[in-house]
Amino acid sequence: METLLQVKNLKKYFPVKSGTLGKTTNYVKAVDDITFDIYKGETLGLVGESGCGKSTTGKMIVNLLNPTSGQILYEGRDITKLSKKEKRKLAIDIQIIFQDPYASLNPRMNVGDIIAEPMRVNKIVEKQDINSEVLKLLNYVGLAKFHKDRFPHEFSGGQRQRIGIARALSLRPKLIVCDEPVSALDVSIQAQVLNLLKDLQEEFKLTYLFIAHGLNVVKHISDRVGVMYLGKIAEIADGDKLYDNPTHPYSQALLSAIPIPDPNKKKDRILLTGDVPSPINPPTGCRFHTRCIHAKDICKKDEPKLISIDKNHDVSCHLIEK
Ligand code: SF4
Repeated sequence: METLLQVKNLKKYFPVKSGTLGKTTNYVKAVDDITFDIYKGETLGLVGESGCGKSTTGKMIVNLLNPTSGQILYEGRDITKLSKKEKRKLAIDIQIIFQDPYASLNPRMNVGDIIAEPMRVNKIVEKQDINSEVLKLLNYVGLAKFHKDRFPHEFSGGQRQRIGIARALSLRPKLIVCDEPVSALDVSIQAQVLNLLKDLQEEFKLTYLFIAHGLNVVKHISDRVGVMYLGKIAEIADGDKLYDNPTHPYSQALLSAIPIPDPNKKKDRILLTGDVPSPINPPTGCRFHTRCIHAKDICKKDEPKLISIDKNHDVSCHLIEK
C-alpha cells in the first residue's frame, strides 16, 4: 500500500511552569517517541484512555500543535519544517473533525456560510459556484437545502457533526483526522455518523486517522488500529489481527471491555485497576507495568521496544520479546 503520512519518533512535551516567575519545572510528556505510517485510502484507528496522547498526535498532524521533536512526513515532505505559506497550502489537504461540533461551529454564522468560508478563504471554488457547492455538500452529509440558512443551535448533536464533516470536506482534503467525532453522540446516532464517514471515504477517496477512546467505536471503520498508552504505541496491527489476537495486555484489557451482544455468551472482563499514571513522571521501564497483571521485574526497569511479531502487527511488551 502507498504511504500517505509517516510519523517518525514524534514527541510532544508541554512545559509545566510554577512559581511567581513561571519557570519551567517539568514537562508533561503527552506524546513520547511514537512512529507509525498511514496508508492512502485506509482508516487508521488510534485508541486509548484520556491523556494517552492520541488527540495531541492528531493535532500535530493537522499543524495545530508544533512537535517537540520528530518528523511528520506527508507525501514524503516533513510538514514540521514548512514555511507559514506552505503550511497554509497543506491545511487544504489535511482537515480535522472535532469531538464537540458545537464548540467548533461559529454560532453567529449560518450553516451555508460555515461551509462556504473555507472555500472562500482558500479560493478553491469560483465565487459564483460556492452556493451550489454548499448545497452539494449538504446533500452528501444527509442534510437538506433549507438547512443552509439555519444556525448551529437549531441542530441536534448528530446534525452538527454532519455540518462539521461538510465543512471539512469543502476543501476536498486527502486526509481527515477524526478526533473522537462520535464520542459526544448517542449510540444510535454514532452508528449513523460512522456509516456516513465510511460512505464519504469511498466517494471522495479519503484517508482517515480515527481517534477514539475505546476499541468498540473504531472496530467497524478501521483497517488498522494503533493502541496508545501514556504517550507510547503499545500495539499496532491490522484490525482483524488486533481484534482476534490482541497481544499487548493493555489491548487485551480494552478489548475485554467491549460488550458481546449475545446474552448467552459470557466474556471474562480484564479490569484495569488504578488510574493512568501521570505523564509528568511516567513509570520507569514499561509504562503499563503499574497496572499490568503480567508485569515482571524486567518490566519495571527496561522499556520494551515496539517489535514486529507478524506482517502488520507490532507490539511493545517483554512477554513477546525473543
Ligand atoms: Fe505488562 Fe511487562 Fe508487557 Fe509491560 S512489558 S505490558 S508490564 S508484561
